Amino acid sequence: MLLMNVTDIKEAQYYRERYHTDDRYYLKKLLDRMIYRCQNENDKYYGARGISVCQEWLDDSDSFVNWALNNGWRRGLVIDRIDNHLGYTPDNCRFVTVTESNQNREMWTTDPQAMTRKCKSCGKVKPLTEFHKDKTRPMGRTYRCRECRNREAREKYTRVHHPIPEQMSR
Ligand SMILES: [Zn+2]
Repeated sequence: MLLMNVTDIKEAQYYRERYHTDDRYYLKKLLDRMIYRCQNENDKYYGARGISVCQEWLDDSDSFVNWALNNGWRRGLVIDRIDNHLGYTPDNCRFVTVTESNQNREMWTTDPQAMTRKCKSCGKVKPLTEFHKDKTRPMGRTYRCRECRNREAREKYTRVHHPIPEQMSR
């Protein structure tokens, strides 16, 4: 059984209080957790996937805190990576509600172990080989599966070259 002495309890209360009232302290703790997840090689969503925190924020927690305070952070919002395959950088982060963050994560799901990705269009989980090669994208593949890309290209071609009568009459 873990026993805490009075000093420990007071200290715990102090930090809990501070966490709820001191925004800069709260944001530094957030940064600590981000760094911890990214440096933990057993964390399959962060460390194991090579997700990292940018050097600027690693070197200077105040630069992260200032960035957050100037870029829409408020209590109740979570930090969200816009492209789930890229790391924590000012360009790739924003503050959103938990619901928005879950939707974003859902949309970009890739399983690097199984080498599968959930298609952004049809939502089916398919092997990465079912996605066109694209060097600019994480793991060198597009976010939409071949089937969806081909279908979308066909639809676009049809719109441009063979407009349907309603569109022609406009
Ligand atoms: Zn698809």
